Amino acid sequence: MKIIFLGAPGAGKGTQAEIVSERLGIPSISTGAIIREAIKTGTEMGMKARKYTESGALVPDEVVIGIIQERLAKPDCKNGFILDGFPRTVPQAEALDAMGVKLDVVLSIEVSDSAIVERMSGRRVCECGASYHTKYNPSKDGVHCDKCGKPLTIRRDDAPEVVESRLKVYHETTEPLKEFYAAKGILKIVEGQERVEDTTALTLGALGI
Ligand code: AMP
Repeated sequence: MKIIFLGAPGAGKGTQAEIVSERLGIPSISTGAIIREAIKTGTEMGMKARKYTESGALVPDEVVIGIIQERLAKPDCKNGFILDGFPRTVPQAEALDAMGVKLDVVLSIEVSDSAIVERMSGRRVCECGASYHTKYNPSKDGVHCDKCGKPLTIRRDDAPEVVESRLKVYHETTEPLKEFYAAKGILKIVEGQERVEDTTALTLGALGI
């Protein structure tokens, strides 16, 4: 299956994408995670991307399209994949079409802006890609990752003033993708719930798995 998860930052795309990835045995690909890794290791792409991510802006289309093109060419994508955080603009969606990618479903997880702001303030992440929430999805000891044991951190771009810009970018630039995929007849909507497992139940139902 080829699946896209759409939704505002903090809507739970990454968490649900990881669960569906394990269930279906296909990779979950997060452009945000690839960019954060490049920033951490100081590659040329990472150095270019940093100023955008830190202010909550989008990294230019040609950069992320290049990242996705390279990633989808890897052998683990041949039986399907989940895209978490790509596409985020109509030109990115058109580039995916131009690559010949035939999507099965685009699932939008809907959460109100006020709930997003609350969720972002409690988000804790691990460098392995796992994501937690201090109240809704805490790790066992609250400070280390359940999967790999590394200490959890707060994403720099989860600072309240950056979250506000990210939400604005989402509504102005990414939300129009819902219409783009609705017109293709492949858009499904899931209302994000407070509890991760409740959103998972709705997500699996919408995907028919
Ligand atoms: P995320 O982890 O998906 O919230 O992404 C973190 C940041 O990486 C975003 O705020 C953007 O600056 C950048 N980014 C991730 N995916 C994309 C994309 N598809 N297009 C442009 N920028 C992106």
